[in-house]
Amino acid sequence: MSTTYPSLSEAEARDAADPLRPWRERFVLPDGVIYLDGNSLGALPKATAALMRDVTERQWGEGLIRSWNDADWIGAPRRIGDKIADLIRAAPGEVMVCDSVTVNLYKLMLALLAARRDSAAGEGGTILTESGNFPTDLHVAAGVARQHGLTLDAAPRDQIAERIGPDTALIVLTHVHYKTGERFDMAGVQALADAHNVPLIWDLSHSVGAVPLDMGADAARFAVGCGYKYLNGGPGAPGFLYVAAEALEFLGSPIQGWMGHAAPFAMTDDYAPAEGIERFLAGTPPMLSLLALEGGVDLMLEADERARWNKAQALFDFLTLLMAARCPDLVPITPQQAELRGSHASFAHLHAWPINRALIEAGVIGDYRTPDVLRLGLTPLYLGFADIWLAVDRLAAIMEDGRWQRPEYTILNKVT
Ligand SMILES: *Cc1c(COP(=O)(O)O)cnc(C)c1O
Repeated sequence: MSTTYPSLSEAEARDAADPLRPWRERFVLPDGVIYLDGNSLGALPKATAALMRDVTERQWGEGLIRSWNDADWIGAPRRIGDKIADLIRAAPGEVMVCDSVTVNLYKLMLALLAARRDSAAGEGGTILTESGNFPTDLHVAAGVARQHGLTLDAAPRDQIAERIGPDTALIVLTHVHYKTGERFDMAGVQALADAHNVPLIWDLSHSVGAVPLDMGADAARFAVGCGYKYLNGGPGAPGFLYVAAEALEFLGSPIQGWMGHAAPFAMTDDYAPAEGIERFLAGTPPMLSLLALEGGVDLMLEADERARWNKAQALFDFLTLLMAARCPDLVPITPQQAELRGSHASFAHLHAWPINRALIEAGVIGDYRTPDVLRLGLTPLYLGFADIWLAVDRLAAIMEDGRWQRPEYTILNKVT
């Protein structure tokens, strides 16, 4: 066990030299809290708080229904979609902001299976995903398989490549794993799927706003992603759906809602899908949530992606070093190499649950994931090196004095 590690003043010196340091002032962060859970619910941008006042008081309050046009509410799903397209290096018109990740995944899966039925490939086959994937991805895939006469194959990560075969109808993978932080080689896996001519949907929930993404360069054609994690879109922010332009030609939404109609306000009896990505809208967009998300997306676009990812790596390395020196009983399970992971660091400990409870009590908010994982999210815009130093210092104290063994922390009375 190493006993020398950087001091708090060294951490403070790194913060003073950090070009992203001023960004911290752009977020509302409660005093006395070190927030390491921006991967689960991003912090509130100050600009969003002001924006929401305008949206409620002026746009809704004064403008009433006129704001659908005057404030361009009607254009918001596509407008914000185009901004997210910029973040993930897709083209304008390839991303729509709507619904939850869960619903978007379902829509895309059904759209792709319908296209397959219309092709020579026909019916049946296997939906391939990763065992231990995020629950909603597994549940939706299992439901789709059951409802449409396919088989679900949830394979361990190291067997995914060999399971792709003539029988594979569809692949659904989460780019950055929500628990371990492991990241798939997007270009590599996409090339494999393409070689077998199998559509692949990427879930970008733990990637967008966290790691550099390039849909075009990686030839990824289908994806869904989350608005309330690294995009700081607010609790329950809408998710998004990405379909590459070439694939838009042959995909229809399984939910033929009026908002996805070619002319919603023609109010016709017959359905005709909108020309572009708009066809994936179903019902009326949740305007308040949507506009709050726009505040977060604008901030992400303003902050340089390379600088964000460089700092996220530096924070990760700093955390790793301190944890090894001061909390050696917590075993790192996230790959160290930057290309192989996302922007959180996870540690295994049999008692991760009460340890996390005690840590929250000590003012450090990370989270616990079953069965034994303490997960610490690293968001470079509003976290600094001193935050990491203090978080590890408090965790080390909890491990040393055994405080986590107190009944108030060990009694399972809350789901977090
Ligand atoms: C957070 C997350 C989701 C969230 O889905 P919702 O429908 O927005 O609740 C989905 N997939 C993954 C991989 C996630 O990490």
